[in-house]
Amino acid sequence: MRAFARPLLLLALLLGLSGASAQDFPSAEQLAAQQKSVPSALLTQAAAPNGLAASGKSALLPARPPTPVPSVPETSKAGPIQILGSYIAPGERKTLDWRGADVFGTIGNVAPVIVTNGKKAGPVLCLTGGIHGDELNGIEVVNRISRKLDASKLAGAVIAVPIVNFQGFGRGSRYLPDRRDLNRFFPGTRSGSAASRLAYDFFNSVVLACDYLIDFHTGSFERSNLPQVRGDLRIREVLEFTKNFGATPVLHSPGARGMLRIAATEAGIPAITFEIGAPIRLEIKEIEAGTLAVETVMHKLGMTEKLRVWTERQAVFYDATWVRAPVGGMLIGQATLGSRVTQGQLLATIRDPISGEELPVLASVNGKVIGLALNQMVLPGYAIYHLGKEATESEAVSSALKPRLLPRGRADAQEEEQEEDQDEDQDRNE
Ligand SMILES: [Zn+2]
Repeated sequence: MRAFARPLLLLALLLGLSGASAQDFPSAEQLAAQQKSVPSALLTQAAAPNGLAASGKSALLPARPPTPVPSVPETSKAGPIQILGSYIAPGERKTLDWRGADVFGTIGNVAPVIVTNGKKAGPVLCLTGGIHGDELNGIEVVNRISRKLDASKLAGAVIAVPIVNFQGFGRGSRYLPDRRDLNRFFPGTRSGSAASRLAYDFFNSVVLACDYLIDFHTGSFERSNLPQVRGDLRIREVLEFTKNFGATPVLHSPGARGMLRIAATEAGIPAITFEIGAPIRLEIKEIEAGTLAVETVMHKLGMTEKLRVWTERQAVFYDATWVRAPVGGMLIGQATLGSRVTQGQLLATIRDPISGEELPVLASVNGKVIGLALNQMVLPGYAIYHLGKEATESEAVSSALKPRLLPRGRADAQEEEQEEDQDEDQDRNE
């Protein structure tokens, strides 16, 4: 039975028909296969449902032999891009409107899509910001990159969408007008909820034209993140892509169903989330770091000639863990974003607003502060400091591939804690 079922599973994977997603629990066989090669289901050709993919540039990754995978991909031919009903010739730049399927009626989404098609051949890089309407740093990074592009010198194309969730942005809200989180509905459906239809339209009109995707976010709900790249490092193409961001910290995160980066990866497009700072604010230092990282990516993908020099060594992987508030009270942080801390070091104090009693919060590991909660009233167990422990690429990958146990009784308490940490990481931030 088992011997019979496996070839069928493999066939389904090869045809891209499997319902398995990046966060599904992998079998021992799948783990072994992942360690050796890219999961073929994620990277074989997928069909563009409405034919709006780039013309003359392959919008989808070709099926490749499993190894070796180059860190700089093969480039496609220069040619016109056909998107949102327009043609953009090589050397041309156009700002188009994405109308978002008019799902919200008179307050419909009209998001600018800036397409810069280079004269020379190269990949199509997509930059998306503002999927959460209150996350401003990424919007500014996408705009800064887009403004600087020179189509006559560019190899490949950049499709920049600074604000995907225009309705949320207009109201200063993370969510859509129906209180749904757009980043839980990709790739969407034609006839589902308004959020699902909006996701479907964006995915099919814009995202399927990309060879690579960077989706910008920030921490959420009074949390701030050091600029960092998050991707599913179990997928070879995603891992290779994460190595192009200079010294930006890289974290493994399998993501949650419905996230844009997960849906894009499942359609064969290596995609990552770029976290920058906190919501609502415009943080110039962080914006500059994000802009520099994207310029580095473009250079490494062979799209631009300008070389950005990084002082730190490249591709720094981190294993991350959350430190939680031991009690409720007023959080007063000490350790700042980006600082290095040693185990036992004071990170913050939590003060009882009535009695004035104070409790110290100490670092659980040696590491770097890659995310934190801003000063606020917290409940017991609130995740307040995200500490990253530096790891080598192989440590990061083997940790990503580590099978998880079902939480069962006291013996697995540690495992349960890790699971919860990951939920914090994925569900609240991206
Ligand atoms: Zn976000």
